[in-house]
Amino acid sequence: MNLVFLGPPGAGKGTIATAMKEELSIPHISTGDLFRSAIKNETELGKKVKEILASGNLVPDEVTIEMVRERLAENDTENGYILDGFPRTIFQADALQSMADIDAVVNFDLETESVVKRLSGRRVCKSTGRTYHILYNPPKVEGIDDETGEQLIQRDDDKEDAILNRLEVYKKQTEPLIAYYSEKGLLKTVDASSAPEKVLELVLAVLKK
Ligand code: ADP
Ligand code: ADP
Repeated sequence: MNLVFLGPPGAGKGTIATAMKEELSIPHISTGDLFRSAIKNETELGKKVKEILASGNLVPDEVTIEMVRERLAENDTENGYILDGFPRTIFQADALQSMADIDAVVNFDLETESVVKRLSGRRVCKSTGRTYHILYNPPKVEGIDDETGEQLIQRDDDKEDAILNRLEVYKKQTEPLIAYYSEKGLLKTVDASSAPEKVLELVLAVLKK
């Protein structure tokens, strides 16, 4: 199954995709993770996008689309994939139409107040990308990754100014995709406000319909 996860930053897309990739045995392709990995490895792409990610603005469409095109051409996508964080603009969605047959778009619905709480409490392990929340999903030892023992960090774009910018960017550039996919009959909206186990259940249920 070729899936797209849509929704505001912090709605829980990555958390559910991580749980679901095991359930469905398909890869979780997060454009944010791909960019962060390029930044960490100091590749040409990484150098180009570093400041953009820190500010919370979007990477130019052409650059993002090319990266996704290459990723979707890898062997592990044969039985499907979860695209998380792509597309984020109508232009990207049109490009995706020409590269892939999408079976469903899961729209993670969460009000802004909860989005801000989830983003501001998010902590990540830089080397593995594992995600925690200081209140909703704390590590066993405060500030330390459960498995690697590394210090957890707060992403630059999870700090207050960048959060506000990202929410504006989402409203202007990404939210129109809800109507776009609804018109195509692909949109499945899920209430993302419950605990992760419940949200996972809801997502699996709408996909079965
Ligand atoms: P979140 O899930 O918290 O919104 P992501 O990890 O998906 O964050 O994205 C982090 C950043 O990576 C975005 O703010 C943006 O700068 C860049 N990015 C990720 N996906 C895209 C995309 N599809 N188009 C443009 N920029 C993107
Ligand atoms: P996204 O990929 O949509 O940006 P994440 O999956 O990274 O969102 O989740 C954002 C933050 O909210 C993380 O700190 C995560 O631990 C937490 N979180 C995710 N899903 C839930 C949930 N259902 N309830 C409470 N907190 C959640």
